[in-house]
Amino acid sequence: MKITKLHDLYFKEFISANEISSIITSLAKQVKNDLPKDEVPVFIGILNGCFVFTADFLRQYKGDCEISFVKLSSYEGTSSTENVKSLIGLNEDLTGRTVIILEDIIDTGTTLQEIYEIFATKNLKELKIVTLFYKPDVYRKELHIDYIGKGIEDKFIVGYGLDYKGYGRNLPAIYQLTTQPKMKNIV
Ligand code: 5GP
Repeated sequence: MKITKLHDLYFKEFISANEISSIITSLAKQVKNDLPKDEVPVFIGILNGCFVFTADFLRQYKGDCEISFVKLSSYEGTSSTENVKSLIGLNEDLTGRTVIILEDIIDTGTTLQEIYEIFATKNLKELKIVTLFYKPDVYRKELHIDYIGKGIEDKFIVGYGLDYKGYGRNLPAIYQLTTQPKMKNIV
């Protein structure tokens, strides 16, 4: 079993790079097949975690498309209790376009809901959601997720773009939090 230490915690390999690769190939095919033949979608990657997934997904997507990245930021609104969210990086006019959100992981769904509500005001032709990982046991929203790469249990994961305290985004596989192993197992 491959174990890695990031900052102060231990993680064991949970989903191999090969499995991730086949999940993404299948997701990209499904998304393409479900669109009208000449549709040119705009994929929107939600930073930071989605950058690895987005790069691999797009290279498996066989068709014309555009790509943009956004980041959700929060700032204080007019009252001190109001927490206003905005999307940084969304500059293009998306009126009448088919927009497909690419998420690395959906947990409670709070982030997704906030992003969805911002895009819902933009007079799009269609808005779809793709997520690589999804935790069904903790999802709290009604919003339909159009494409799910893999459902996983409610345990913290890292790797393949996902971090723990900023570490682990560069791991090619997905690792899951574990207890401290015997030293000989650590890579
Ligand atoms: P939600 O708003 O759905 O509860 O959480 C979504 C965000 O929380 C993700 O975009 C991701 O940044 C972070 N997140 C949720 N679960 C995990 C996890 O297991 N590992 C890591 N590294 N981040 C997670």
